[in-house]
This record gives sequence, structure tokens and C-alpha cells, in this order.
Amino acid sequence: MRKFKTESKRLLDLMINSIYTNEEIFLRELISNASDAVDKLYFKSLTESDVKLSKDELRILVSFDKDARTITVSDSGIGMTEEELDLNLGTIAHSGSVDFKNESGDQMSDEIDIIGQFGVGFYSGFIVSDKVRVVSRAYGADNAYAWESDGVKGYTIEGAERAEQGTDVILTLREDTEENKYDSYLSEYKLKTLIRRYSNYIRYPILMEVNKSRELPKPDDAGDDYQPEFESYTELETINSMTPIWKRAKSEVTQEEYNEFYKSDFHDFTDPVKTLSVHAEGTLTYDALLFIPGRAPFDFYSKDYKKGLALYSSNVLIVEKCEELLPDYFNFVRGIVDSQDLSLNISRETLQHNSQLRAIARKIEKKVKSELLDMRDNNREEYEKFFENFGRTLKYGIYADYGMHKDMLADLLLFYSAKQQKMVTLDEYLESTTPDQDAIFYAAGDSLERLSKMPITTTVLNKGFDVLLCTQDVDEFCLSSLMEYGEKPFKNVAGEDLGLESDEEKTQAEEVTRENEDLFTTMKEALGEKVTKVAVSMRLTDAPAALTSAGPISLEMEKIFAQMPDGEEMKSERVLEVNAKHPLFETLQAAQKAGDSEKVKRYTDLLYNQALLVEGMPIEDPVAFALAVSELMI
Ligand code: ADP
Ligand code: MG
Repeated sequence: MRKFKTESKRLLDLMINSIYTNEEIFLRELISNASDAVDKLYFKSLTESDVKLSKDELRILVSFDKDARTITVSDSGIGMTEEELDLNLGTIAHSGSVDFKNESGDQMSDEIDIIGQFGVGFYSGFIVSDKVRVVSRAYGADNAYAWESDGVKGYTIEGAERAEQGTDVILTLREDTEENKYDSYLSEYKLKTLIRRYSNYIRYPILMEVNKSRELPKPDDAGDDYQPEFESYTELETINSMTPIWKRAKSEVTQEEYNEFYKSDFHDFTDPVKTLSVHAEGTLTYDALLFIPGRAPFDFYSKDYKKGLALYSSNVLIVEKCEELLPDYFNFVRGIVDSQDLSLNISRETLQHNSQLRAIARKIEKKVKSELLDMRDNNREEYEKFFENFGRTLKYGIYADYGMHKDMLADLLLFYSAKQQKMVTLDEYLESTTPDQDAIFYAAGDSLERLSKMPITTTVLNKGFDVLLCTQDVDEFCLSSLMEYGEKPFKNVAGEDLGLESDEEKTQAEEVTRENEDLFTTMKEALGEKVTKVAVSMRLTDAPAALTSAGPISLEMEKIFAQMPDGEEMKSERVLEVNAKHPLFETLQAAQKAGDSEKVKRYTDLLYNQALLVEGMPIEDPVAFALAVSELMI
């Protein structure tokens, strides 16, 4: 018996005695080794004229034997000599595991993660098996050799039989345990699934003997009651699809094909609204195929949704969802990035710090942004649909990270314009303003209908200014992160000071306030802590009163904070604005003059509750309110 080198021994121990997060990658590793071996022979045939290859030697065969509990991966590739078996499979001194060696030390848990996530080549066979036998015959050699190991101390190499050049890797699966059902790999379906998941784009056919069934020909003497008979048979079938669709030029692929690929690979039943195919060459060589889905996945706005693009290196899947390739605000993008420059054995830690990957991510971000702008300008209907699905994500993107990405995202936003009665961009809003308008007005609440009818909205509209109606809970947070657009600040119409009053109106307001000081004091007393102030309003026309807010927190934000599971107690500074031109104001003045402060208080309470209803806020005591209204009607 030959002993494993120390590093190999350590690695094997880790493999066998650790908990693996992703044991099934062993098949991917063996298949990519087989593919490398076929590559090497193919390359030799191109450069050396005496090397002749037939087409059916360029293939990989996967088979299993349920009784013997074995899985075999065979190739007709370059093969290994006795020395190569010893060198390549007995030590770790080859490229693939350099990363691992560098990180060895005391960081046990990191090491396990690397193995679990990305595998370490040939040795990953020992994750699922307790005996690995490799029968190999090098190209041009007369003899074959068998390498065999239980993955514990060492291995043996002895002479063996093999008709042609190539290698068979035969795994004998471990006995099942409570947690690990190694048996499950001994199934045609399971192996097919794994091949398609991890090795679908290996450029050589991966063949498997599959069971099929066919109807037997109907006998000539079959009677009326003939029941068709079937026989089962096996057939070699190519399991992988080989040429990756993302490597093909855009002009060669129909949209139909892209749609089919998207739907089957990303489990969606709706066609994507946009397909982006990128082929980059030069310092950064990669292919990318990206999709903007036609609808949000059902779990999109839940914690379960994971962003990311599938990352391939030389047609082999490395990570199913590589988060580093997408910013959070474009988390709806699905797709694939393939870069031959990345190593198969790249670990999660190195992924994060991989400058190449970061550079690709930046390019992808730019590409997605420009496609969205293009859709916004050239296919507004489609863009509105997109925005309905994913607009909320863009708004969160503006609000998140202290507004760091707002410049990137602001021109992608759409809001409903009360004046134009349709969705508009912020630039389109600005185009409709007159020089004397120095703010962007918006109203926030839960329905367009209610917002457009609110007295404080109609007041602004009547002055000729447009108002954006914001109905999503994230809207106001997004706008307050933006603060301004085109140098104009955002102003909530329900805020205290919109700066819309003329000088004349201001003087008038001051006068009314001075003359009715007592009345306002009584009214404030009636409401106590519910409001910070009762004030005269010059902006209301038909409504007798309205509730507005001073300070940075609006009434709408207060509502949202209240709904958050462990939201802080965030309160707006409520102001009851009273319309001095409304007949009801005279009634209040008269009651105050007559010393009937009880009546003033009762009416103030009614006005306050009415204003709450108009704002869509709950009133504290609906029963008392209903009684008070009925009393008025008697
Ligand atoms: P890597 O593929 O990253 O080099 P592996 O651990 O997967 O590392 O494989 C170790 C080495 O064993 C390979 O580099 C190759 O030389 C050899 N090898 C493994 N499988 C085969 C095979 N099927 N045919 C020929 N050589 C192989
Ligand atoms: Mg390998």
C-alpha cells in the first residue's frame, strides 16, 4: 500500500468526517475531469497528425449498478500511466486545490465550507463512497492500471485490463445512515437530474443507458379485444444539452428559444419582458444571458427570495446563485454569467473579493440600467408593467444604504400624476412645471381615489400644480431619501408649509389668528395632546378643516410605522387646520363669543374626527363620534 501525502490525508479526513452542505457535487467534479481528459486527447489529435480520433471517442459515459452499489464515470480521454495515477491521485499538488492549501490552518469551519460548496476535484468522490477504483489506460500505452483506495490511509496501484485508452472512475457508495441516503444516487432519474443541473453545458455528450418502453407490433391474428403490449428496453441517450445558449450569437437564437430556456431553467411560466445577451472580450472575457421576468416570483417580496445569477466557468456550474453579481435593487434579474477565467474551485470567500467578478457585476449593472431606460423611452406600456412588478424594489434601492444609489435609480421611477392622470417619470413631472413652481408636490396614502379627492390635494391642483399620488408604503421613504429632484425639493401636500400662499393671504391669516386667539386656545384645549397646534388655513376651499403634519414624519409614515412588527413609536406632529372662510368657522366664533366653550369643544372634536376619516386614519372612539353626529341631526 502506498501512503497518501500529508496534505491529501488531511483533506480526505475533512471530506469524510465533516458535514457536507452539498455532497452531490462529486458527480460534477468527476464529469469535468472526464471532460478535461477528452479535451486533452482532442487537442493532441489537432496538433499531432498521427493521433486519430473517431467521433464516438469524444464522449463521457455515466452508469450505475444498484446491486453492486456503484456509480461509474467513463471517458475515452487521454488516460493516465502508472506514474500519473500515483502522482495525480496520490497527492494534492495540482492546481485545483491550491486555494485550499493556502487557507489550511486553524480555520476548520471555513475549510469545510469550501469543500461543501465547491468540491475539491477528484477527492470529492470520497464524500459519498468508501471505495474508489480508477481503471485507466494512457493514450499510446499497452497496459492499463487500476488505482484503488478506501480514502483513509493510502491506495494501491496494480495492473488491470482496459480495451482502449481512457479512464473509468468507479465509486462504491457508502452504506446509508439515518441522515444520508447514499442509495438515492443509484437512480436513473437522480443521476440525470444531477447531470443536467451541473454539467448540462459540458461540450461532449454525456451518455447514459436509460430505460424506455415501447409498444409491441399488433399481431396479425389479434382479436377485437386486443390490448396493446409493451416491452421495456434500454438505449444510450445524451443527457446534457452541450452548446450553451448564452455562448451563441444573439442573431442565431430566436426569441422563442430564449423564452423556452428562461422558462425551463428559471421555473417560470411567463415569458421574460427583456432578454439581454452579452458577449464581452478583451481584458474581461465573459458571456452573460440575462432576463427581466414578466412577473414577480410568488416569493419575491419575502425573505425566502434569493437574488443572484448562475455562475459558470468553462461550461461548468460553480454557483447556482452568485449574489455578488447583482446589486440588491436589481435583484429581480435572472440569468447566467460564464467566464472561463474563473477557477472551478473558487470558494465563497474568494468570490467576494474577486476583482474580476466585481468588474463583471459593474458591467451587468450598467447593462441592466440602460435596457430599462430604453424600455422606459421606447415601450412605455411594457415599462409600466415592469414597474408594477418591480418598482417597489427600485424604491427600496433608493431608500437603502443611506441613499447611496439614488442617482443610479431616480430616473427609473414612475409615479401617478393627478393632473395628467397617468404614470410619469420625475423628469416628465418637471417638464410640466412653470418657472414659479419651486417644489415637487406629492400626496401619500392608500388609494389613488381618496388621495385625489383630499382637500389638501385639490387645493394644490386648483392652483395649477401637479401632484404625484403615492400609494405604496415605501414611497414617502423613497422620496425623503431623494430629498430633491432637478433641484426642486419634494413636498407632501399634507405638510404644514407649502409656500403657496400669496403675501395677501399670509397677512390675512395673521389677522385671523390674532383676532381668534381665544377660539384657537379653546380648540387646542379640547384636543389636548392629540395635536400640536390648531391653526388657520388659507388653502382649504370646501372642507371646513384638515389634518396636516409639521416636521419630518407625515401622517402616512406614522401609519406605516404603526404597522411594522417591532416598529418604534413614531408620531407625526399633527396640526388641525381650520378653514376661516367656511360658514362653520362663524358658528365656532359665535359659540366662543357667547362663552359656550362646551359647544366649541364638542364641535372641535367632531372636526378632528372628520379630518381623521378623510386622511384614512382610525378614529379613537367611533361610538362617541357616531353619537355626537346623531345628536346634531335631531
Ligand atoms: P483538477 O481537475 O483541478 O486538476 P482533480 O482533483 O479533479 O483536480 O484531478 C486531479 C488530476 O487527476 C487531474 O489534474 C488529472 O491530471 C487527473 N485526472 C483526474 N481524473 C482524470 C481522468 N478521468 N482522466 C485523466 N486524468 C484524470
Ligand atoms: Mg477536476
